[in-house]
Amino acid sequence: MSETFHHNSVKRSRKERHCDWCAEKIEVGQPYESYRWRESGDCYTVCMHPECFAAMSRASRLDPHMVWSPGDFVRGSTMEMWEFIHRHSFGEQP
Ligand SMILES: [Zn+2]
Repeated sequence: MSETFHHNSVKRSRKERHCDWCAEKIEVGQPYESYRWRESGDCYTVCMHPECFAAMSRASRLDPHMVWSPGDFVRGSTMEMWEFIHRHSFGEQP
């Protein structure tokens, strides 16, 4: 069982960090969304670009039990990275 709490909208990041959705950098001075996440005694802090947080919220409404790793998804999108790469590698068939 897991739970999330302490959601926080940060207007200006004080240090460089990486987004837990798309794994891209969140630069100093950029806004981000963070929340705490607790599962079986372990506590994590999740940080995301605001557009990635919105994408994650959409995805988790469809699948509340989804799990992912940073870099699994395209920034600001619910499209998975492998699908994005696949589309760009193979393009459209003639
Ligand atoms: Zn991101």
